[in-house]
Amino acid sequence: MTSVALTIAGSDSGGGAGIQADLKTFQELGVFGTSALTAITAQNTLGVHAVQPVDPKTVAAQIRAVLDDLPVTAIKTGMLFSDEIIRIVAEELKSFPSIPLVIDPVMIAKGGASLLQNEAVLALCKQLLPIATLITPNIPEAEVLTGQSIHSEEDMEVAAKALLSMGPSAILLKGGHREDVPFAEDLFMTADGEHFLMRSKRIATPNTHGTGCTFAAAITAELAKGHSLEDAVVTAKHFIHAAIEDGIELGNGHGPTNHAA
Ligand code: PLP
Repeated sequence: MTSVALTIAGSDSGGGAGIQADLKTFQELGVFGTSALTAITAQNTLGVHAVQPVDPKTVAAQIRAVLDDLPVTAIKTGMLFSDEIIRIVAEELKSFPSIPLVIDPVMIAKGGASLLQNEAVLALCKQLLPIATLITPNIPEAEVLTGQSIHSEEDMEVAAKALLSMGPSAILLKGGHREDVPFAEDLFMTADGEHFLMRSKRIATPNTHGTGCTFAAAITAELAKGHSLEDAVVTAKHFIHAAIEDGIELGNGHGPTNHAA
């Protein structure tokens, strides 16, 4: 049977991140991808030039249209942009509590553009984190969500526990932004206390655009196929390592990770 996943995210016209990265990753991992668009970005490998959010009612209508008909077995959220969109997404998803939900708390693009308004952070914490199966913050996102700075493995553990207290069933805290270590070390922890570290060699490349979206989409695809959360994060870690290693030299800025790696 065909497995189906839904991504609720923003469009990257440059094709490296957002909805485009999610759908390509789903396809690559053998999952049929569906989507609900939250915002349109005019973007290329150099950065974000413009952002136009979608009317929240239209975001809700897309989610409902997909979930009322297609047999979706995992959902991911990416760029949500505003408090209004977050509230309506949470409202729609509350009716489907049995579908695993991966929340990638996207905040700022590599070039510095804001993909989440400051006043929307509270709604993300209050409305979406409590219904998440897994949240996948990177270090800067975890610092914003917890208000704590993270410089070591111990700091990562403290932050992961603080984020779990906001209600998600599990967290994957991505350590790729830490500069004190020569590897990318991610911490997986569940609300039940299970935890493990995943470590990979740091790859020196400018072609990392869309890394976070691709990682979370790969986890979502594996969940859609019925794999356990633990197996999904391990498979996705291998996938994202290969995608960065195989990053594509495209455009004049940060080329994309290779979704077909
Ligand atoms: N654009 C969209 C629509 C995104 O969802 C994201 C990340 O989630 C980005 C851009 C940022 O990508 P990056 O920071 O990897 O360049």
